[in-house]
Amino acid sequence: MTVNKVYSLSEIKEMLLLEEEEAFALYEEANSLTEKLFGKSIFVRGIIEFSNVCAKNCLYCGIRRGNKNVKRYHIGKEDLKKIIMDAHNDNFKTIVLQSGEVDVYDNDITEVIEYVKSKCDIAITLSMGEKSREQYIEWKNAGADRYLLRIETTNRKLFENLHPDDDFDNRLKSLMTLKELGYEVGTGVMIGLPKQTEEDLASDILFFKENDFDMLGVGPFIPHNETPLRNIKSVNMSMVLNFLSAMRLVTYDTNIPATTSMATLDKEGREKALNAGANVIMPNYTPQKYRESYKLYDNKICTKEDAEHTMEFTKKTVERAGKVLVLERGDRRR
Ligand code: SAH
Ligand code: SF4
Repeated sequence: MTVNKVYSLSEIKEMLLLEEEEAFALYEEANSLTEKLFGKSIFVRGIIEFSNVCAKNCLYCGIRRGNKNVKRYHIGKEDLKKIIMDAHNDNFKTIVLQSGEVDVYDNDITEVIEYVKSKCDIAITLSMGEKSREQYIEWKNAGADRYLLRIETTNRKLFENLHPDDDFDNRLKSLMTLKELGYEVGTGVMIGLPKQTEEDLASDILFFKENDFDMLGVGPFIPHNETPLRNIKSVNMSMVLNFLSAMRLVTYDTNIPATTSMATLDKEGREKALNAGANVIMPNYTPQKYRESYKLYDNKICTKEDAEHTMEFTKKTVERAGKVLVLERGDRRR
């Protein structure tokens, strides 16, 4: 059994390139480590996509500002409070509030966090992009527990080509600020970006390890028809699983979700991920009427499923993978 072994860039690259039986052995190894650390428990987090209004134009994303064919929506603060309290009543112990990137609703979110924290003990994760240090402090003081901000790729040049509005150093700075402020911090990348190499992906994993991030949300890049990357093909699920397993072995005790994009790429993507190193599942808790409008990529699943059915549905997915869904906050365990 691997005990917090240190891996080199070339060892990680080798893992990413494994095929068939050797790849299956890698998934087995990652799964045994996951079970050694977490047992068969899978933590559940509900994700609420409360707004698709975005001022940025990331080349890969379906809700980028340049896409004029998106029906824009924003869930107001009173409705959002109610949705979170419903999630709490449905036994969710963690929710993730995700949106496009604009500043106009930031004060509302402070109020929503304060309200929810005064009513119940539910861990709040924010995924709202790059903000000022002051804003991150305000939300932390209001009671936010965690923040998700993907680096998307650690290849600086690639990052800059994909993000006309962003600066790589600023993204790094935001991540370091979040850590310094005491958030549990999640980051991640997309796998299969145009011009991304195995070496880039191996460096991504080392970056996660070196900076000791708590949560690692990764998934395949999936093209969206209304974006400049519409003609780029996605990677195979096997590359996603190799990456996931390598990430588990290298970063050891981090929280790693089986993501929606994995299930979009492969019908059984989440089950496969839960047997290759993932220990978290994130069902969509966005009210159904908004889901069609939060399409970051084409064919996103669950856009038609009822919100109130997702816990049952999620439990079944977890059981199909031979695991057990647990209703806990799922803080990082060291
Ligand atoms: N606006 C926030 C949060 C919403 S986007 C932000 O950018 O951080 C959340 C994540 O969706 C992004 O970090 C990105 O990794 C992922 N995403 C966007 N477009 C995608 C695509 N075409 N394929 C796969 N993942 C995508
Ligand atoms: Fe906006 Fe986030 Fe999509 Fe970029 S990835 S366009 S910031 S929602």
